[in-house]
Amino acid sequence: MSGIGRHKFKTNHSSIWEPDIAICPYCGHDDCHADFCDVGVGLVQCGPYHCESCGAIEIGAYDKKLELSIKEDEFGWYEPNRKYEGCANTVGGVLVDHKHAKDMYNIGLLDKKD
Ligand SMILES: [Zn+2]
Repeated sequence: MSGIGRHKFKTNHSSIWEPDIAICPYCGHDDCHADFCDVGVGLVQCGPYHCESCGAIEIGAYDKKLELSIKEDEFGWYEPNRKYEGCANTVGGVLVDHKHAKDMYNIGLLDKKD
């Protein structure tokens, strides 16, 4: 899955093995990461960029269509205080990466998506 965020990046690695670090469009926190999966020929983004400082989360290309605020529409990120309803893996509404998600799935704790 890829996101539709229009954030700036702090880094410019230009490498499929070294994902760039994003800057949060809401609070400016410059250490935002996304989950990337190794597909053999490189890493592909498999989760949204998110901000650990304010809690904003990038909107995914395949998220169900929700009514967006002006800022959400502009940034391509959900607002920090919004309940996350995107299609990335969550446990109790909190994002988890794909490795953690598999463990959670195995013990039945992964949130179900419709
Ligand atoms: Zn932020």
